[in-house]
Amino acid sequence: MTPTTLNHKPVNDANRLGLDYRAEAKRFDYTDPIIDIHTHIGTPKAAGLYVQVAELFGVTKTVSMTKLENIDAVSDEFGSSSDRIEFIAVPNYEARDQSDTFTTDWLHRIEKFREKGCRIVKFWAAPRGRDLHSDALHLDSPSRLEGIKLAYDLGYRIFMTHVGDPDTWFATKYTDTRKYGTKANQFEPLERLLDEYHDVTWIGAHIGGSPEDLDFVQGMLDRHPNYVLDTSAAKWQVRELGKQPDRFRAFCEQNSGRVLFGTDIVANDGNLDFDLYASRYWALRTLIETSYDGQSPIVDPDLSMVDPALDEKSTAHLRGARIEGQTLASVYHDAAVKVLG
Ligand SMILES: [Zn+2]
Repeated sequence: MTPTTLNHKPVNDANRLGLDYRAEAKRFDYTDPIIDIHTHIGTPKAAGLYVQVAELFGVTKTVSMTKLENIDAVSDEFGSSSDRIEFIAVPNYEARDQSDTFTTDWLHRIEKFREKGCRIVKFWAAPRGRDLHSDALHLDSPSRLEGIKLAYDLGYRIFMTHVGDPDTWFATKYTDTRKYGTKANQFEPLERLLDEYHDVTWIGAHIGGSPEDLDFVQGMLDRHPNYVLDTSAAKWQVRELGKQPDRFRAFCEQNSGRVLFGTDIVANDGNLDFDLYASRYWALRTLIETSYDGQSPIVDPDLSMVDPALDEKSTAHLRGARIEGQTLASVYHDAAVKVLG
């Protein structure tokens, strides 16, 4: 699929090709419902704009990490039918500087989200969590394990986790391995917890944090039947999966029912931007279902971070995986339905 609206709109970091995302959204072949399992819809105002974008791209249900205090107001923006939005329990990241945010306050929030009917809880364990709290954001620190056990005892049976980060970050931001560990180290506590909480479905965000190495991810899936993945983080996935579209298609076929569509769209009052939200749907849908072979419209700062000779506004090469049929329906919808029940 070649975009027909090249250079139609003003260029910005989410749209270096000047695409008319509204027009492009109508050109995808797949027209059945899509579930986005990984978003951060922060405020009612941002939700209002997000809903317009989601509808254009065929998204009928959104799963969001939203601050506890905002979930009712955000939910209202999705209309009376509450099944269009579902929330994932998260800490209060706005209060990340307060000492109890990732300890006692977080435990309290796990309970409050559950009282609101929440079924999914996120355990974010990126290496940069060490910069926010000395230990509470390790996946297996004592306070984190307390939160995991509490969530389990309260009845949560879907845990989302972010383990790892792009290889580009381990090559640049995380060179202090005494502090951050190696990339391989990140997955050791996850493997133990996948076994310990074997009757919980664990969603490994961002292709399990390792789209660079699908053989490694396959090993994780093979060892742990309770492990599934989401496709979120558009820049990262476009950069890495766009290098290996045939491998990515075969991977989705082999693991049908275990790869869930997600974007990681972050929508809040500080970034009310149609192109920003739309670019994530356009890029990921183009990566997954088309045979596009060309420039990604989204500026990817990791490219010039790794190679300072490159322009700061560089964008990745996007090559579509042309996933189709039942595999595509599974990624976009059926796998999420199976997980959410
Ligand atoms: Zn996210």
